[in-house]
Amino acid sequence: MSTKAKAVGDIWSSGESYRNFLDLCDEAGGRFTGTESETKARDLIAARLDDYGLSNVHLEPVDYLSWKRIGAKLKLACPMNRDLDSLAFTYSSPTPQEGLETELVFISEPTRDAFYDASDRVDGRAVLTYVGNGVGPACQSTHWASDLGAEALILMANSYRSMQPAGSCRWNQPSPIPVMSISREDGEYINRINDAHGSVTVRFTVESETSEGISHNVVADIPGRERQDEQVIIGAHYDGFDIAQSAIDNASGTATVMEAARALSQNRLECERTLRFVLFAAEELGMVGSQGYLDAHKAETDDISVMMTTDWPGYPARYGLQLPFTELEAPLGSSMQGRGEVSTGLGMYSDHFPFMRKGVPTMWIGGQITGRDLEIYHTVFDTADKVPPRVLQDSAMLITSAAVDLAKMDRPAEHRTEGDIGRLLEETGRTAALKAEGRWD
Ligand SMILES: [Zn+2]
Repeated sequence: MSTKAKAVGDIWSSGESYRNFLDLCDEAGGRFTGTESETKARDLIAARLDDYGLSNVHLEPVDYLSWKRIGAKLKLACPMNRDLDSLAFTYSSPTPQEGLETELVFISEPTRDAFYDASDRVDGRAVLTYVGNGVGPACQSTHWASDLGAEALILMANSYRSMQPAGSCRWNQPSPIPVMSISREDGEYINRINDAHGSVTVRFTVESETSEGISHNVVADIPGRERQDEQVIIGAHYDGFDIAQSAIDNASGTATVMEAARALSQNRLECERTLRFVLFAAEELGMVGSQGYLDAHKAETDDISVMMTTDWPGYPARYGLQLPFTELEAPLGSSMQGRGEVSTGLGMYSDHFPFMRKGVPTMWIGGQITGRDLEIYHTVFDTADKVPPRVLQDSAMLITSAAVDLAKMDRPAEHRTEGDIGRLLEETGRTAALKAEGRWD
C-alpha cells in the first residue's frame, strides 16, 4: 500500500479528529479573539501538533484591533415599551452611556440600491434590515447606513429560530455607528408595530471597548525532501465567536487540518515540497491572521505553490477551485477519485482570499452548505452536536490526498500578478462590495 493510502486509511479509522474537535468546542469554547478561550485553543493546537511529530511548531504574533463586548440593550420605546434581546456586532461603537433614542426605518434588503433609495429617511434614524447571506452584507450595510447619516444599524436574523446572529460590522477597525442584531421574530414584531402605528421609536445602549491586541497564528511543518523552500500551505481559522462553540465555523475546519497534519506526519509521508500547516487567528475580525501571515512572510510569497483552506468542511467533502486558478482541476480531479465534482468559484470571505489577492494559487475544501446549517452559523446554535465525525474525516482525507499530489507536481499552477487579480475582481463585479467593506482603495 502507498504511504498516501495508509495516511488516508488512518484518518478513516482514527477517532483523533473528533477528539480534537470536541476539545476545541467543549474544553476551549468559542475562541473569540482576545479571550482566554482563544488562548486555550491556540495552546491545545500547538501541543497536539507537537505530539504528532510535526517540525517547527510555533506561534506567530499578529497585531489586531481588539474589541470587547460589555453589553447591549435594545427596546421598543414608542408606541409601547418592550425589551428586546439584542447582541452587539463586533466592532460596534459604544453609544453614550445614557443610550440613544431614535425613530426607526426598515430597509427590506441589505443592498446598496435599497439603502440609497431610502436615503431621505435614513438620516438621524436607526436602520433595521436583514443581516444578509454571508459575512459581507453586515459590513456593507454598516458602511451605507453610516454614510447616509444613520444613528445606528439593527440587523435581524434571516431565518426564524436563529436568535441574534453574531458577526463583525467592520473589519479590524471600529464601526462609526452602533450595530446590533436581533432575532427574525423580533424584527417582524417591530415591523408589524411600525405598520400598525405609522412609526416606532427604539432606545438602545451599547457598551464596548477597543484596544490594540496581539493574537497568534499556529504554524507547523512537514519539511520537504527536495524543494524545502517551496511550500503547500494548508490552513483553517481557529477563532470563533464568544456566544457559541463556533463548531461548524470553524472548529470543524481546525480539527480537519490538524488531522491531515497528524496522518501525514505519523505515516512519515515526506513530500518533495514542504507542507506548512497554519491555523489562522482572527479570521472573523476580517481575515486578520491570514493577512498578518502574508505581511510577515512577504519574501516567501513566490515560494507558496498552493494555499488551501477549509472553513466549514461539510459533507460530502469536495475541492473548490478559486478563480482564476482553474489549472488545478487536473491534479485535483484525479485526487477526487470519483468522489464528486470539483467546483469553481471566487470566494472573498475566508483566509484564502488575502493569498489569492497576492496572486498565489488558492483553493478550498468543503461540502455544499445548505439548510439549517446556513441558518445557525454565527449563532448560539453552532455547537458540537451539529458536526458528525465523518465530516472531519472526509475533508481530512481529501486534504491529505491533495497535499501529497500537489507537493510533488512540477508546477501545480502559475502565480498571477496582483494586477491580474485586481482586473479579475473588477471584471467579475466584486469591487463595489470590497469598497463598501473597506478593503479596496
Ligand atoms: Zn469561518
